[in-house]
Amino acid sequence: MIIESRELRLRHRIPVNRIGKYWKGLEEGKVYKTVCRCGRSYYPPRAECVCGNQTDWVEITGKGIVECFTVVHSIPSCFEWSKPYRIVIARFGDVRVMGWCEDEVVVGDEVSIFTAMDGSGVWKVWFRRG
Ligand SMILES: [Zn+2]
Repeated sequence: MIIESRELRLRHRIPVNRIGKYWKGLEEGKVYKTVCRCGRSYYPPRAECVCGNQTDWVEITGKGIVECFTVVHSIPSCFEWSKPYRIVIARFGDVRVMGWCEDEVVVGDEVSIFTAMDGSGVWKVWFRRG
């Protein structure tokens, strides 16, 4: 049985002016979280903590630990590569970060974080093993 399908493209506009540093950071190779003096940390970043204080920007550095991942075998036609890739969630201290990964990883592996622009001009968070 053949299931007919067609591509559906969605575009969303979200306000980013209060978290512009995050998007600018990706272009500079940096991934930021925000932290509050009450002890809470946020990733994705939030400009304001649930306690009402303004948060501070802190770069996420060092090694993360893979907590879960999925392997994507169905590659969209707009991608510039054709091999399977991974969407990984890794813990970096007090935050979990989702990113893309071309390396084979398993839960518990150490990963490094970096940023790169994809073929459509969008900056993304990436991991590499080790
Ligand atoms: Zn707070």
